[in-house]
Amino acid sequence: MSSVAVIGAGLVGCLAALGLSNRGYDVTIYELRDDPRKSHNKNLRSINLAVSDRGINALRYVDPTFAAKILSKVIPMSGRMIHKYNGELESQQYDLHGKSINSIDRSFLNEELLNEVESKGISVNFNHKLSSVNLDSAKPLLRFETLTSPVVNVDFVIGADGSFSKVRQELQKFVRMDYSQEYIDCAYLELSIPADEEGKFLLDKNHLHIWPRSSFMLIALPNIDGSFTSTFFAPWELIESLNEDSKILEFFQKEFPDSVKLIGKESLLHAFHHHPKGKLLSLKCNKYNYEDKVLIIGDAAHSMVPFYGQGMNCGFEDVFVLLELLEKNSDHLKKSFDEYTRTRHEDLLAIVDLAIGNYKEMSHKVNSKIFLIKKKIDFLLTYFLKDKWLPLYTMVSFRSDIKYSKAVATVKKQEKVLNFIQVIVLLSAAFGSFKIAKLFRKN
Ligand code: FAD
Repeated sequence: MSSVAVIGAGLVGCLAALGLSNRGYDVTIYELRDDPRKSHNKNLRSINLAVSDRGINALRYVDPTFAAKILSKVIPMSGRMIHKYNGELESQQYDLHGKSINSIDRSFLNEELLNEVESKGISVNFNHKLSSVNLDSAKPLLRFETLTSPVVNVDFVIGADGSFSKVRQELQKFVRMDYSQEYIDCAYLELSIPADEEGKFLLDKNHLHIWPRSSFMLIALPNIDGSFTSTFFAPWELIESLNEDSKILEFFQKEFPDSVKLIGKESLLHAFHHHPKGKLLSLKCNKYNYEDKVLIIGDAAHSMVPFYGQGMNCGFEDVFVLLELLEKNSDHLKKSFDEYTRTRHEDLLAIVDLAIGNYKEMSHKVNSKIFLIKKKIDFLLTYFLKDKWLPLYTMVSFRSDIKYSKAVATVKKQEKVLNFIQVIVLLSAAFGSFKIAKLFRKN
């Protein structure tokens, strides 16, 4: 069977390696960093991700037993918990039928994937930074920056080396690749809400907590140790202006009063002074392959801002789509890679754009009465029309059988109906005459 070099031992690279190895390919992984499982590399902060249907579907496709092991360590979140200025809490369920997205520790997931990769006999070469890929030769020729500068020949390369992908850069020399990237004016800072003295959660653990404040917001996701990983998202100018203890405390006390007690003053100040402030990048490209020699997947092919919780889920789905194509095309690599580029592109465009759109929803629309009325109508139509009407969030997060692009096309049609009903509801409410208005008057 063909030999493959997977570049990047992140979440997506590891899953791709497992899936390809299961199909009989001779897989080797090359990773720029050191082994994250070594104790001196351990990150003491837990950073978590929401894994949802597309990610779970891909994990199960690759290995149902491994998927079950991972899913036993997640915390289901059935909705958003909105923290208002006045301290009031409002739960907004994600799905009418109670489906949840799931909070998981990112390092735990990466380490488990690495353990699984090694248990299958796949070799992982840490501290191997890819420096070039030559595609002029019959087989791709890879060079790495290490003490011995090894040169490696393989049948094909899977680039899963993240947003600043070297594989993508090298691919651009050989294919006419459309490429665009945009930094959004938003930085993020990781904070933490510890467990109480008995190790219990200080907030409801089955919600994704949001403090939406229009141009900035705070969110928190639960960890299995009783803590929450919290993230502050704000425009760069604002976050950089919070450069003194008094300014930071004053700002948090005014904007997120309940959070200061939860995070703790010292821990809040420590995070502002010592944690890195992350940039958020949105990146699209097309094509994704060069003949049967290279394919890029995961963040290397489509970085998205994190507001739909789909970056990793979509990267896992890339692996699923690739494995299905290999199956369908009896492992004919060129056919499979070409078809991947042809059929996957519109879905990747759709989710990258949806992710930016969801920033607006999370940071301010969730507070708007009009938005909430629309959500209720959406839920009612879902209830009465069953599978004939599905909210966008449901299609994206809970229905891996619906492609991202199909979800967007469907919701465009549904929007027209929703807007029409919304006008009727608002007019009814204004004149106070129709029964239907009573359904929504509470809001
Ligand atoms: P990466 O995780 O970036 O891995 C790439 C790997 O390649 C790295 O290990 C890197 O060291 C290695 N590498 C890079 N260059 C080289 C080289 N030259 N040679 C060799 N190796 C190299 N997604 C979700 O699905 N749900 C969420 O809730 C969610 N929340 C998020 C919150 C935040 C704040 C952020 C920033 C992202 C979030 N994401 C979420 C997105 C998710 O983290 C990414 O989509 C996912 O980690 C991408 O995985 P990857 O394997 O493609 O890339």
